[in-house]
Amino acid sequence: MKYVKFINLDVTAGLLHHTNNLIRIIKKSYLLGKIPIIPQFSMTCKNCGNGFPEPELGEWIHDNPYCKKEERFFSNFSEWCDFDKLKLNGEPYEVVIEDDDISDDDIFVFDLEEDMHGGNTGVLSKWPEFNTKEMKEIILDLPFKERSIDIAQKITSKLGKYVCVHVRRADYRADSVHRKLYTILYQNYCLPPYNRYEKADEATQSENILNTLNSLVDNSYNVYLMTDEGNLEMFSEIKKEYNVFFYTDFEELKEMREDDNFLLFTIELLLMSKANKKISTFNRGYFQGTGFNSTRIEHCDAWLYQEVEGDAHRDEVMSFVLNNDRP
Ligand SMILES: [Zn+2]
Repeated sequence: MKYVKFINLDVTAGLLHHTNNLIRIIKKSYLLGKIPIIPQFSMTCKNCGNGFPEPELGEWIHDNPYCKKEERFFSNFSEWCDFDKLKLNGEPYEVVIEDDDISDDDIFVFDLEEDMHGGNTGVLSKWPEFNTKEMKEIILDLPFKERSIDIAQKITSKLGKYVCVHVRRADYRADSVHRKLYTILYQNYCLPPYNRYEKADEATQSENILNTLNSLVDNSYNVYLMTDEGNLEMFSEIKKEYNVFFYTDFEELKEMREDDNFLLFTIELLLMSKANKKISTFNRGYFQGTGFNSTRIEHCDAWLYQEVEGDAHRDEVMSFVLNNDRP
């Protein structure tokens, strides 16, 4: 059998979570000596980032009126990444995006259900078979779409010397749908109160962002602020001290926000990669270069949330982009 198809990875998650899975699936295929059929990952809402996979809680809840609420979104990443340019250990590597013409007899089926039932929240890195030394040593390079790279280049040349600040708020601010739902979920399962990143709301306010900026740069730097926060007005205090840019300041990015926020995010990851100084919300690494590259992951210069308390295990699960747990 020439091809391998991975089934039953039915967790719903955001872009970086599934990037981790995608990278491991490709590397696993390489080690199996087969060509992967890239699965359709179940993504959170491509507009607001919300989504709630537990069926007993009913319908998904969205943050924005312009979300397509009835529409579940699946992606094999082909709208964001250029699989034609995928390289493993510097050599081109073939994958299949459309498997319509492939006979079932030619497909080896790899069932990931075991992982799902192992309580691993759909993060393949928690499955030892997908987290081997051999696998980590494979260098994967998967560039984003050329148009995204072009747009990012155009914007970085306008930004000149700049600091990129990633303010992740939507799922962690005090009134977020995410927090409310997890609070209910934890109660329902008689777990201790949900307190993951309890202080993230405070850490992502203008005051703390300004303090962090002031400790790292001066106002000779422009600021590009990437955020999932819908209310950009809340950052107006920063504008009094720095020349601040948001996606709304660039026509190419503005139109993406409502259509495909993940596409906007890939471009913003490029803006982060190219920034002269980098600030993130949590102390995590970011992909450097022109897309996803399993060896080019770097930490930011500073981060907004200094102390992470509470759910240490879960934090470890989610921190896959750190250097020490790179895919
Ligand atoms: Zn939504």
